[in-house]
Amino acid sequence: MAGTMMCFKFIKKSFTQGQRNYSKIGFVGLGNMGNSMAKNILKKGFKLSVYDINKSSMTNLIEAGATGASSPSEISKNSEVIITMLPTNDHVWQCYTSEDGLLNSANKNTLFIDSSTIDPSVSQNIYKECVKKDAQFIDGPVSGGVVGARDGTLTFMIGGNKKQYDESLPILESMGSRVVHCGDVGMGQVAKLCNNMLLAISMIGVSEVVNLADRLGLDPKVMTSILNTSTGRCWSSEIYPPVPGIIDTVPSSNDYQGGFMTSLMTKDLGLAQSAATRSGTPIPLGSLAHQIYRTLMTRGLNDKDFSIVYQFLKGNK
Ligand code: NAD
Repeated sequence: MAGTMMCFKFIKKSFTQGQRNYSKIGFVGLGNMGNSMAKNILKKGFKLSVYDINKSSMTNLIEAGATGASSPSEISKNSEVIITMLPTNDHVWQCYTSEDGLLNSANKNTLFIDSSTIDPSVSQNIYKECVKKDAQFIDGPVSGGVVGARDGTLTFMIGGNKKQYDESLPILESMGSRVVHCGDVGMGQVAKLCNNMLLAISMIGVSEVVNLADRLGLDPKVMTSILNTSTGRCWSSEIYPPVPGIIDTVPSSNDYQGGFMTSLMTKDLGLAQSAATRSGTPIPLGSLAHQIYRTLMTRGLNDKDFSIVYQFLKGNK
């Protein structure tokens, strides 16, 4: 028995030794999400280099021990693993493929992890560019918002090779509490877009029924509590109600400030729409949700939390 255990330990050790243990990390895109994520990597003792086109967003990280870089290519020269957290398809593509971008000076076998929410087909194209440079790539979008980024409790949805997923775990677990392997490259983005499309639909649905109840004479707070013990219950009704004054800490109780911006939800619905069009998939509710959020954008509500759709349906916005 003792011999079997020793043998098992030896095999386990050899397997772990077969994996790469990364220590030099690069981080590009230090906005609302990326700044907190990078801070959590530093806290775990990794050696970190950071870059953002907005130099001021690097200051707090440099003060905490990170090295500031002056370009994406400088990050590439000094890192074994590089995480990107950028706004849109175009930002990500440019950052990887431009002349001064990440790929031009990437070391062989660098592991790139893109955590931005972008089109799965763009992730797949970046993966092909990485292969040309003998580098590795996985997509790893996140859910959990700015609070999850701050507290290190994000969920990562990973698309890519299982070996690279395994090797990335110590780094990703410094920023998140759940890291799920979804399949091949692009499947992390597919999971993210599908989840966010359902979130938009459910937020509109909750807002619509609560407003109907209100107009028929039923207190919106009472209606929300009925939903939460009935079959209409969902995350948007229970954890993140769009009606102000039910939960003090959610954006609806704070003039719809903070949280997940309408502009980002609109972007994600646009990505889901293009993916559905490409694959010939009917998404009637997703398309309608996209149009509703685009209308919110024309009302200047870009920076408000996406639960503001409740005020829009009430005719207040
Ligand atoms: P953000 O706009 O706050 O941050 C993006 C950062 O990227 C900015 O600091 C910007 O200066 C920097 N940047 C832009 N182009 C760059 C370039 N070429 N090189 C270096 N830096 C560059 O956005 P965010 O809220 O942090 O979101 C980032 C991504 O994460 C988006 O794709 C978003 O959809 C997704 N996301 C956001 C949330 C959220 O709650 N905010 C939640 C989950 C996923």
